[in-house]
Amino acid sequence: MDGRLCSKVACTNEATQTFTYVYADSMAVLGPLSDRHEPHSYDLCPVHAERLSAPRGWQVIRHVALNNEL
Ligand SMILES: [Zn+2]
Repeated sequence: MDGRLCSKVACTNEATQTFTYVYADSMAVLGPLSDRHEPHSYDLCPVHAERLSAPRGWQVIRHVALNNEL
């Protein structure tokens, strides 16, 4: 399985989450790394996923992975 990198310019971290813009609903959905690459989705590393902000008027939905027991 080959790792996928964060889609942010100049970032070389491995992507762990996928961020998808749902234009119809003005929603930005952050979830687990998806298998398929979709037109409005971006792979993000943990750092950039954390800093993520949506455009004004948009709603951000975060699906948090529960497999980290800290
Ligand atoms: Zn990144």
